[in-house]
Amino acid sequence: MKIEVIKFGGSSVADANKIKHVANIIKEKANNNVKVVVVVSAMGGSTDKLIALANEVSQEPNPRELDVLLSTGEIVTSTLLSMQLNTISIQSISLTGIQAGIRTDDAYGRARISEINTGRIIKELKNKDVVVIAGFQGFSDEQDVTTLGRGGSDTTAVALAVALKADTCEIYTDVSGVYTADPRLCNKARPLTQIGYEEMLEMATTGAKVIHSRAVEVAAINHMPLIVKNTFELLQKGTIIQSESNMENINKVRGIAHQNQVGKITIKGVPDKPGIASSVFQPLAEANIPVDTIVQNSSTENLTDLTFTVANEDLKKAIKVSEKTVKTIGAADLNSTNEVGSVSIIGTGMTSSPGYAARMFQTLFTKKVNIEIISTSEIRITCVVHKDSVKTAINALHDAFELDVE
Ligand code: ADP
Ligand code: ASP
Ligand code: MG
Repeated sequence: MKIEVIKFGGSSVADANKIKHVANIIKEKANNNVKVVVVVSAMGGSTDKLIALANEVSQEPNPRELDVLLSTGEIVTSTLLSMQLNTISIQSISLTGIQAGIRTDDAYGRARISEINTGRIIKELKNKDVVVIAGFQGFSDEQDVTTLGRGGSDTTAVALAVALKADTCEIYTDVSGVYTADPRLCNKARPLTQIGYEEMLEMATTGAKVIHSRAVEVAAINHMPLIVKNTFELLQKGTIIQSESNMENINKVRGIAHQNQVGKITIKGVPDKPGIASSVFQPLAEANIPVDTIVQNSSTENLTDLTFTVANEDLKKAIKVSEKTVKTIGAADLNSTNEVGSVSIIGTGMTSSPGYAARMFQTLFTKKVNIEIISTSEIRITCVVHKDSVKTAINALHDAFELDVE
């Protein structure tokens, strides 16, 4: 039995007409030789609405209850799509994350998939053409519903493609693939024909939300090729994400990723002695808050400042945790802002060549963009800048590195 795994994002299923359009795409794929496993997101905007509702009744919604609430968004789409498939004579059934056997750890809100028991899916495919699975969710050892974090349906799809031994995993979204920069902010951005896992992972972790970073991680580990396509422009080829062997792409900026808004915390007057960094970051790790960029200033009079960034949605929690740390380590003060964003340039082999960093900084300087923090990896340079400068920075860098020409 040949199984194809395809995923449709929130904007592709945002209303009944779009769900009908998606059902027609699936109908084209399903035939005697091919069974289709479809993963769906919640209808566009509905996860945000559920979060807003939760915030109306509670300042700090109970994480277990919040996950059950958020999981309903994807269940709504999966049932509607399955009904529509039945209407157009395709045999289909919808399954929730639990019914689909998607087991996770118990980290509510950012659970990780530990195992998929595909028994039920395989059983259903024996007499159905299509199984529609609610993305973004699973269940813990306690049989509680968990969710995988914003954008997590991509990860559901890739994990299912691996578990079901599909050849590829297709991700349908509202743009024609992975672009050199977010096409909504950069007019000159162009879709890439292909990109390697490493570069894609750096793009996704530094803000290119076209695909969930953990989906890329799972794909890379399992060598699963991903195809990103446009639901509404089916003739466009899209982008293939796979192991890259094309040497010509090395030593070139491939793309620009950004985050419009991140949280930045500075702890001032930190006693400069061994173990301090661990005392600051251990409590954040225990609270399950990922920290991005970290800078420690060189100390004067044995006191130093420590600055780090976190995702905007984690800022409130990170401040609470760090305020306690300030007291326990005897630091002077803490200040925070979410008025900053980040811009990253990504390309294999880039940081081993000094010209790239210099050109990035010079370009931002020419546009009067002040750089607050710089961080680098083997294949990435990131600058934290004021959030109002993010768009200017993306466009200037896109020009400077000539990303509009192939
Ligand atoms: P879906 O609802 O299909 O999961 P998302 O909104 O999560 O879609 O992701 C698609 C969006 O990602 C696009 O509409 C685009 O604005 C944004 N995006 C950011 N960076 C990029 C990029 N480099 N290439 C393509 N899209 C990008
Ligand atoms: N519905 C979830 C979100 O809006 C998951 C997803 O779309 O992938 O983040
Ligand atoms: Mg998405």
